[in-house]
Amino acid sequence: MTVKYAEKTPLGFSEESSVLLCRLIKKMARNPFYKERFNSLGIVPEEIKGVEDLPKLPFTTKEDLRKTYPLGLQVAPDRDVVRVHSSSGTTGQPVMVPYTRNDVNTWAEMMARCLKMAGVTDSDRIQITPGYGLWTAGIGFQAGTERLGAMAVPVGPGNTDRQLKMMVDLKTTVLIGTSSYALLLAEEANRRGLTEKLHLRLGVFGSERWGEKMRTRIEELIGIETFDIYGLTEIYGPGIAIDCPHHTGLHYWDDHLIFEIVDPVTGKPLPRGSTGELVITTITKEGMPLLRFRTRDITRIIPARCSCGSPYPMIDRIIGRSDDMIKIKGVQIYPAEIENILKGISGLSSEYQIEISRSSGKERAVLRVERQPFEKCSNGLARICEMEVKSKIGLSMDVEIVEYNQLPRSEKKTKRVIDHRDCC
Ligand code: ZN
Repeated sequence: MTVKYAEKTPLGFSEESSVLLCRLIKKMARNPFYKERFNSLGIVPEEIKGVEDLPKLPFTTKEDLRKTYPLGLQVAPDRDVVRVHSSSGTTGQPVMVPYTRNDVNTWAEMMARCLKMAGVTDSDRIQITPGYGLWTAGIGFQAGTERLGAMAVPVGPGNTDRQLKMMVDLKTTVLIGTSSYALLLAEEANRRGLTEKLHLRLGVFGSERWGEKMRTRIEELIGIETFDIYGLTEIYGPGIAIDCPHHTGLHYWDDHLIFEIVDPVTGKPLPRGSTGELVITTITKEGMPLLRFRTRDITRIIPARCSCGSPYPMIDRIIGRSDDMIKIKGVQIYPAEIENILKGISGLSSEYQIEISRSSGKERAVLRVERQPFEKCSNGLARICEMEVKSKIGLSMDVEIVEYNQLPRSEKKTKRVIDHRDCC
């Protein structure tokens, strides 16, 4: 079975997107929640003419989904809904997402495109390690695999012994899961001396932010090429964007989704190419379409076509969550931006800490970075760091290079930012 790609999608928004958006707004206006919201903001659906009117329309937040739990934002009639999925709900009320037959189809199509973009073919054997059930991941990958015509090995989560046995016995060629589970499997395969028996060639990993170091480690351990897949339960699930073999960004399917980047604080649209919060509108979704959904994920739309020749636009890797943002001397930064800069400077370890203070109205930011165990000349390194931070994010920081193993480490999430400004 061949997977259809859209003929040609311009880098901006297509006319088709505008037509679909207008149709969506009219449908949404029949739902009580949206009806009330549009009324309170004085929005007349008929006056929305296209994508250029998006900034006039309200955002939808995760809070809205929780408030209308379980199915208050369903737009399609019950007879059209064929399935629900749900987020895990570890941080409060879960979020329920109803899908129509067309939604299930669209999702499978997007997932098949993702796999195809990563180089998966119908001859591949794909081991799926994410969970099935209410959770969107397992079944999403399964549907995409079948749509592409490859063989799904639906092992589901956990049970490392069985995972490795299936991988060896069935000669699995593609591994799907979270990057941390992939790393665990790779290390375990290595420890048991199984790497020679593996037939893996590709890995498609998602659902958490993973750095270049982890990627390289997995690639080296089991000799595969890895791809970063993106998605969220509220918007279908995984499979709405993936990086291509050029690995310069994640292509997304703009015939089904409109991506915008807004300032996470003010909500104002940012110029193309700027980094900010990703906001998604689902223009073909029927069960629970979402209007300008605030993902809280920080990235940017890459303002150029990919050298791979794909007509689909790209976002950058997700660099963090909008809640991680800090403002120093009026400049908004994300710790991950600092991490990215440090990664490019040799002689430094991956550990760093940012300390911010204020005295007599002046803010001061100190960036402490560990050097590698045998690295000397700290002054030179500090200068390089200062210059790189200044040129890449426009912020003057005082850099202190410290000995290896001087900064605190944690099993869980290491505290990178110490902010004294609130208490002085
Ligand atoms: Zn590409």
